[in-house]
Amino acid sequence: MLRFFIPDEYLPSIHWVDPARLGRRGIRGIILDLDNTLVEWNHPEPPEELLGWFAKVRQAGLRTCVVSNNSAARVQGFVHRLEIPGIDKAVKPRRGAFRRAMALMGTSPGETAVVGDQIFTDILGGKRLGLYTILVAPVTRREFIGTRLVRLVEGAFLRYLCRRGRIPVVALERAAPRKERRHGH
Ligand SMILES: [Mg+2]
Repeated sequence: MLRFFIPDEYLPSIHWVDPARLGRRGIRGIILDLDNTLVEWNHPEPPEELLGWFAKVRQAGLRTCVVSNNSAARVQGFVHRLEIPGIDKAVKPRRGAFRRAMALMGTSPGETAVVGDQIFTDILGGKRLGLYTILVAPVTRREFIGTRLVRLVEGAFLRYLCRRGRIPVVALERAAPRKERRHGH
């Protein structure tokens, strides 16, 4: 049961995901979470650095598809700029949207990776279908109020996994409370 919640890799950000290395593992397509994985929550534009990452993905011959629980307006507006497919209102960790993404990319579960910042949606959804899962640290701590509550449980779970040696200690960084930057006084 626990194995459904343990990512295959933990990385500090999307920029640590090396498409060429995934390609050598037999991965041909990457399912990408949007909010706090590619950009901060509800940020409308892909930044320059992210466009550079997508160029590396294309160079490695991999396909991508965004799968997000956010609204159609949010998701379609974002992927339009990247010229990649996007599935909105995905209801992760349910499997339907992951299956649709694989159909769009033309990949089998063994050829598909998932990159996301949440264990209980991105990682669990991917694991249920046997995909290769990569957990990344969230871009910012600013997020949907419901997500913030889930983070409390997720933080406790990550500390548990670290104690058992199932994920690197660096993953705890995401669970630790960070001081908010203060403006003015
Ligand atoms: Mg997310």
